[in-house]
Amino acid sequence: MTDLNFRTYLILSILLFPFFAFNQVNSNYSLKILGVVQDGGLPHLGNNKTCCENIQQKKFVTSIMLINNENNESYLFDASPDINEQLNFMGDRIKKDLKGIFLTHAHIGHYTGLMYFGREALNSKLVNVYAMPRMKNFLENNGPWSQLVSLQNISIKEINNNSKLSIDPNVIIEPVEVPHRAEFSETVGYKIYGPNKTALFIPDIDKWYLWEKSIIDEIKKVDYALIDATFYDAKEVNYRDLSEIPHPFVVESLELFEPIKEEEKNKIFFIHLNHTNPLINKNSDEYKYVVSKGYNVAEEGMDLKL
Ligand SMILES: [Zn+2]
Ligand SMILES: [Zn+2]
Repeated sequence: MTDLNFRTYLILSILLFPFFAFNQVNSNYSLKILGVVQDGGLPHLGNNKTCCENIQQKKFVTSIMLINNENNESYLFDASPDINEQLNFMGDRIKKDLKGIFLTHAHIGHYTGLMYFGREALNSKLVNVYAMPRMKNFLENNGPWSQLVSLQNISIKEINNNSKLSIDPNVIIEPVEVPHRAEFSETVGYKIYGPNKTALFIPDIDKWYLWEKSIIDEIKKVDYALIDATFYDAKEVNYRDLSEIPHPFVVESLELFEPIKEEEKNKIFFIHLNHTNPLINKNSDEYKYVVSKGYNVAEEGMDLKL
């Protein structure tokens, strides 16, 4: 580096330092994990597997919330059927502070919580619901969801694959389409860009290799990756061929992620756990094994700083 270059570098560093320092220490944003189980919930209707006898606690269906802790403004990602209990902490503030709901797709664990915004329940006024084109069309043209639209309980905003939406000066949301059983809607995950950190949320996907993107590359680009871990291994599905079941099994993900560095593994939070998944139980050998490898298992109440 020449003297002149060095001086320019030095001056720029001094000028820019307060900007970077300010950005790094002043994030009031976090992602709060409100639920971690698969659509069917826990307890689970018709469940007779002995795996769950020792689990007393109810666990909520997968959902996360972006919160600006300075002014309480919040955005929900997926409206689960457990939404009453999940948003109970907001109390009366819900009408003022819930600024929008981003939906991933039209499977029961991901959007049916919207029913509680209707006239039988909260009777909200024009809550912003962000949905992809098919998802929007599905809600607008099928009861009871269409009534939420006609009574203006919700206001649906169309979003598009890979189009970035600035929800405030510090946060950008990007829907990312993924392959997944698509009877009523397409399916997206979300990239959530905070002031300092970025998160990837993919609660449902068929298989990593069916996606046009490389999950390993995507993990490298973010700080947190909350990803589909519906089933752990073949035992849960009566030893059916894993390739026939449209989810990345945890054992398949572990094999795929084995070559990546431990610091990359630390970014991963397994979520959307079926009621049969041994990762629900912290005392299981599978849970201990996954954590020993450097991964995280998502838990209700976790707060990830952005
Ligand atoms: Zn699901
Ligand atoms: Zn699904």
